[in-house]
Amino acid sequence: MQTTKPKPKTEAADVPTQKPPVVKPPPTVVCYICGREFGTKSISIHEPQCLKKWHLENDQLPKNLQRPEPKKPEVRHIGGILLSKM
Ligand SMILES: [Zn+2]
Repeated sequence: MQTTKPKPKTEAADVPTQKPPVVKPPPTVVCYICGREFGTKSISIHEPQCLKKWHLENDQLPKNLQRPEPKKPEVRHIGGILLSKM
């Protein structure tokens, strides 16, 4: 006589997936000209305008107060540098 062992019940774990409300702030980029924060999309619109405005304002200044055009800082990614020299 065969004894039929009851198979272990595989109950689908019905755990309610509760997602905590993660409020992610939209990524912002700081304008290198005026230092204000802008969205990644609006910065591309703002930058040329800001630079134009900067030039207009700079042109109003006397020569000795005029500044060189602010240069866009390069975003450098540090990586791939092999420091391990054994
Ligand atoms: Zn700006």
